[in-house]
Amino acid sequence: MTADTPAPAPERSDFIRDIVAADLASGRVSKVVTRFPPEPNGHLHIGHAKAICLDFGVAAEFGGQCNLRFDDTNPLKEEQEYIDGIQADIRWLGFDWGENLFYASDYFEQLYAWAVHLIEHGKAFVDDLTAEEIRETRGTLTEPGSDSPYRDRTVEENLDLFARMRAGEFPNGARVLRAKIDMAANNINLRDPVLYRIVHATHPRTGDAWCIYPTYDYAHGQSDAIEGVTHSLCTLEFDVHRALYDWLIENLPVPSVPRQYEFARLNLTYVVLSKRFLLKLVNDGRVRGWDDPRMPTLAGLRRRGYPAEGIRDFALEVGIVKADSVHEYAMLEHSIRNVLNRTSVRRFAVLDPVKVVIENYPDGQVEQMEVVNNPEDPSAGTRLVEFSRELYLERDDFMEEPAPKFFRLSPGREVRLRNAYFVTCTSVVKDSSGRVTELRCTYDPLTRGGDSPDGRRPKATLHWVSAAHAIPAEVRLYDQLFARPDPGSDGRDLLEDLNPESETVLTGALLEPSLAEVPAGETVQFERLGYFCVDPDSAPGAPVFNRTMTLKDTWAKVQARG
Ligand code: ATP
Ligand code: MG
Repeated sequence: MTADTPAPAPERSDFIRDIVAADLASGRVSKVVTRFPPEPNGHLHIGHAKAICLDFGVAAEFGGQCNLRFDDTNPLKEEQEYIDGIQADIRWLGFDWGENLFYASDYFEQLYAWAVHLIEHGKAFVDDLTAEEIRETRGTLTEPGSDSPYRDRTVEENLDLFARMRAGEFPNGARVLRAKIDMAANNINLRDPVLYRIVHATHPRTGDAWCIYPTYDYAHGQSDAIEGVTHSLCTLEFDVHRALYDWLIENLPVPSVPRQYEFARLNLTYVVLSKRFLLKLVNDGRVRGWDDPRMPTLAGLRRRGYPAEGIRDFALEVGIVKADSVHEYAMLEHSIRNVLNRTSVRRFAVLDPVKVVIENYPDGQVEQMEVVNNPEDPSAGTRLVEFSRELYLERDDFMEEPAPKFFRLSPGREVRLRNAYFVTCTSVVKDSSGRVTELRCTYDPLTRGGDSPDGRRPKATLHWVSAAHAIPAEVRLYDQLFARPDPGSDGRDLLEDLNPESETVLTGALLEPSLAEVPAGETVQFERLGYFCVDPDSAPGAPVFNRTMTLKDTWAKVQARG
């Protein structure tokens, strides 16, 4: 970026962007460097999307750089599959780290050397207490902890033991390295926190080179310093870790001084954002995998048909604040629907078909009806859809004895078939169980295209497909994964709150023929029904569509309620 191409002004202002702007103005930093630091122990979810939009967004707006750094410090839970998936998801969301791909494991040797530095300066010691004993002696919010009996080991003894920890002489859990700070500190995170653990496990990147691994608290700030990160942005639960973050930076010869800032995490009604729980759903076979269209993962939302642009819009809309809150899922849907409404072509699809025979329409005749692809986007043009004597309509668009306010098809009533003709139901054919198998209708040839010269206006306009031309499809209707807006509240098991009707598979849907050609991942609007996208389970001649969402904008109602 040169002097005559200034960075674009931030689209929104928030306390983080204010801090960054002030730091640039005062000269505390000359170039903004942020990072997104996922642990590769699962796939990214919509909460991570908020963090990604902030980390990459701030860097871009202020002409800086955002690193992607894998926080790969726990080999027991981390896998290459997640490393690959996370990169694909961030790219899909629309962000690019360029050359700046890093791993905390790149710094293991440096982190080890700095741990030795702490020991040499009397600021870290090897502790033989068990994890349980360390917990028991840590004290509480109101009582101080007590010193470990191993706290006063000599520097020589600590150096020797730490080297032997690294060399693999001790089993898992036998010893840890702890910082020597203050067991009476008000902030529990400063009560001699653990810096290294013994874990005999193969790491996805460093293999068996190490059997001691740094904790998140030890690795994170130092990795930031190595990369020259200026603003290390994280969620509020790290607020109490900041004192330790700063203590380590002050007590180590690090090459730069990063600062940590915390913002509120994203919470959504009907959604659980915990990688651990999402992994359980996958492992227990409760969903079709990490990318199940009901999952709040980016892979799941993508398969569901949510466009990346809508997710970015939502992240901007929720904003960056310092107080935790829960956002309505309908607000996310609103952002998604805004994008889909603009970008999705309209198509005819009948999900639960009932046959219609138009008795006065010439047998064997086929007409090509011109239909607008997207009323929101004239450039999307029009298409031709076959109309013939035998059609299918949506079963619930017919009622033999219409309820009050039911204005769609019933015996003796005229309705409009969109972009085709007005038809009137003349009789009903049923099977022995009384189920409607066929509707007999007549049409008015003067209403071609959907308007009558005499100005008649039917109260309903229905979608339809031609029986001879329609293609069969499987359609999967999705609803919230949880039946309650606050899953797991009042101590209930999360699994108890799963929505047993979150997925309904329809196998007899009939689609207009052009829907055979929609590429996987593209979202279309089935007229009057909602947005649908092609699932990767589709095979040639056997398409599978997922319902992304219905057309009902419940967010508008929420807004109106105030
Ligand atoms: P989870 O709690 O879902 O298991 P995590 O926090 O352990 O996720 P990380 O891989 O450590 O997952 O997260 C990477 C970054 O994403 C962190 O900086 C974290 O603060 C941020 N992040 C995680 N969850 C959310 C959320 N719900 N909203 C905003 N940011 C989040
Ligand atoms: Mg985490």
